[in-house]
Amino acid sequence: MEIKKFINKKPYLIAGPCSAESREQLLAIAKLVEGTADVFRAGVWKPRTKPNSFEGIGTEALAWMKEVKQETNLKVTTEVATAKHVELCLEAGIDMLWIGARTTVNPFYVQEIAEALKGVDIPVFVKNPIHPELGLWMGAFERLNNVGIKQLAAIHRGFYSYEKSVFRNDPKWELPIKLRKEVRDLPIICDPSHIAGKATLIEDIAQTAMDINLDGLMIETHNNPHLALSDAEQQVTPEKLKNIMQNLVLRDTKLRDEQFKDQLLNFRNHIDKFDKNIIELLNSRKDIVKQIADFKNENKLTIFQIERWFEILSTRKENAKLLGLDEEMVEEIFALIHKYSILTQTKIMRK
Ligand code: PEP
Ligand code: MN
Repeated sequence: MEIKKFINKKPYLIAGPCSAESREQLLAIAKLVEGTADVFRAGVWKPRTKPNSFEGIGTEALAWMKEVKQETNLKVTTEVATAKHVELCLEAGIDMLWIGARTTVNPFYVQEIAEALKGVDIPVFVKNPIHPELGLWMGAFERLNNVGIKQLAAIHRGFYSYEKSVFRNDPKWELPIKLRKEVRDLPIICDPSHIAGKATLIEDIAQTAMDINLDGLMIETHNNPHLALSDAEQQVTPEKLKNIMQNLVLRDTKLRDEQFKDQLLNFRNHIDKFDKNIIELLNSRKDIVKQIADFKNENKLTIFQIERWFEILSTRKENAKLLGLDEEMVEEIFALIHKYSILTQTKIMRK
């Protein structure tokens, strides 16, 4: 993929309301985020889960975005989901476009948008698809790149999950990290607002994004969050936005000082040793698992015994608790260990 750099600052900040609601609202917020943000965002057409929710002002709001561009030093961006949206945005002089999570999932739409952008040299952000599939996300970049769009960037907005969680969308940080490995030069912007679903979690998520070296942030900002027509709980005020940006700790990816480097190596050596021990222990555990399998086989016992599994779970969690270790983490690790123990036994019994 050929990527042309258009982001020259870190963290690059895109801020503005979830939706454009009125001309006054847009101009007021834009003036308040000017100086903090690099790009002003506002949804003109809103993809809503249910009908009869506020679906955006539509085309009329493009003129207000144009005014924001003229009245401030901010660039402006909005979401496009169809070729018609692209055409209208280009006519209105919108500087940058983004493809939303519900559109990235559909290659027909992405292709349609790509074709409408043929020959146009403006930056395009692609939000991750709703479910955690790197292929679809990559596919969208390839489709855009194939028609000649080189100013590309990803937006990590989290993933839908069936599991109960404090987040609206599960961050699954491993996915942006995998994307970074696939396309080295592609900037990745984190959207803590859609990951969080509530304003109070945004700062923490933004910090994590910086800690894993993402390039920027997209933060939904509203002058009166409680009255917002969409995503009211997750929008912050322009003052809070400033505050979040000031509090961000930006860490170096490369350590300047040699002494620190040695120290880090030392820590890593310890970690390497522990990990080796863990693997050796798993191997010894597996030897016993094999003996158990033979024993169960001879005595015609079932492999999986629910009472034993509950006992494993509760004693391991109890041990973890005594040590002050995260019980949920220990539970997850033992669920995996147990899963592979069952698999090993099944293989032996089928021999
Ligand atoms: C948005 O940015 O307002 C939006 C609709 O986001 P997403 O596509 O991530 O749901
Ligand atoms: Mn939103």
